[in-house]
Amino acid sequence: MGYSTGLVCRVCGKRYEESPLYVCEDCFGPLEVTYDYEFLGRKFSPETISRGPNSMWRYWPLLPLQGEPKVGLEVGFTPLFHAKRLGDALGLKRLFIKNDAVNHPTLSFKDRVVAVSVSKAVEFGFDTVACASTGNLANSLAAQATAAGLRSLIFIPADIEEAKIVGTTVYGTEVVAVRGNYDQVNRLCSEVASQYPWAFVNINLRPYYSEGSKTFAFEIAEQLGWQCPDHIVIPVAGCSLLTKIWKGLTELEELGWIPKNKARLYAAQPSGCSPVATAVKNGWDTIKPVKPNTIAKSLAIGNPADGLFGLGAIRQSGGYAEDVSDREIIEGILLLAKTEGIFTETAGGVVVAATRKLVREGRIGKDDLTVLAITGNGLKTQDALVGATRRPSIIDPTLEDFVALEEQKERRQRKNVSLG
Ligand SMILES: *Cc1c(COP(=O)(O)O)cnc(C)c1O
Repeated sequence: MGYSTGLVCRVCGKRYEESPLYVCEDCFGPLEVTYDYEFLGRKFSPETISRGPNSMWRYWPLLPLQGEPKVGLEVGFTPLFHAKRLGDALGLKRLFIKNDAVNHPTLSFKDRVVAVSVSKAVEFGFDTVACASTGNLANSLAAQATAAGLRSLIFIPADIEEAKIVGTTVYGTEVVAVRGNYDQVNRLCSEVASQYPWAFVNINLRPYYSEGSKTFAFEIAEQLGWQCPDHIVIPVAGCSLLTKIWKGLTELEELGWIPKNKARLYAAQPSGCSPVATAVKNGWDTIKPVKPNTIAKSLAIGNPADGLFGLGAIRQSGGYAEDVSDREIIEGILLLAKTEGIFTETAGGVVVAATRKLVREGRIGKDDLTVLAITGNGLKTQDALVGATRRPSIIDPTLEDFVALEEQKERRQRKNVSLG
């Protein structure tokens, strides 16, 4: 049995029993999972958690399942490490990277939310799972639903990266590519969800789905020795990850497992789709939806479902937001690759580039403990780098050709020295 106690409306506070419900019947506010913290705080401690499996499931008491997880047993517990060389480049002494680009099984942080929501779908008795996705969720849901023996139906905007399309269709799942942007796909899926008895993991199972994101924050805290960092820079699309990092850290403080939730949270968005960053920078209390136009397709959500709650978390934490151009995104990807040997997708480029701005603005100090959320793998968004990296030298398979190539390089270097 689990420790979640039901659902509560985040707006009016009305309580519900656990069910596949996602909006309040009274006020249409979004629902959130609640727990018996006092009870689980008496049964568990950082020591007992740390003896758990090397996966996100070591935090199962803080996840909304009543039984064992049904899928994704390997998900999570990805590396957190001191990124010294990137830190040197950005002027930060204590810069850490939380690297979900190597998450199991589909190389993004979405593996976390899918593992929880598909397990919950099985608990609720669904035989078909579905989602609206900008790509990474599609990959993960297709993979994990297949592994669980469930039927899956995936809705995507037709213009996402080819690698993310193939990375979904390969599992033999049903994929519907919609002529429209994510916000239109999402609206369509809400209508489909009201007509068909399917578990749309990020729509009608959203309260459970989004809880999976908390494990990203739990792992950061545990891997830092049950401490809270000073800053976390987070890529934002629907703003669920950011909102749940805040909830996760708040829970750890409430349980007394970290001294204090002192983390300042920063939303990182592409300038071509930055409704949350724009609201933060202008001090607005509402999110003005935008029409996305960016190479960071995983973040191209113009009307973020959790935008307002994310705004609240950013303000409460004392954080801020930054947005970066497509060119800066590519520079960010290249900087991380060339300093740390990590190839991240466009969302990671957004995070690195936004961090550089936050440092220059003096919001992040050089001695502060700063964590960058790297959430996806660069192998999936190679289209964005066409023309941005040096092409390989092409030669015939002869030693002569190779020697000629080396001599050419030496001549060029000598010329550069004499010019310099
Ligand atoms: C989905 C996604 C995000 C953002 O997630 P939200 O919770 O919707 O804000 C960040 N990075 C990557 C790589 C993603 O796929």
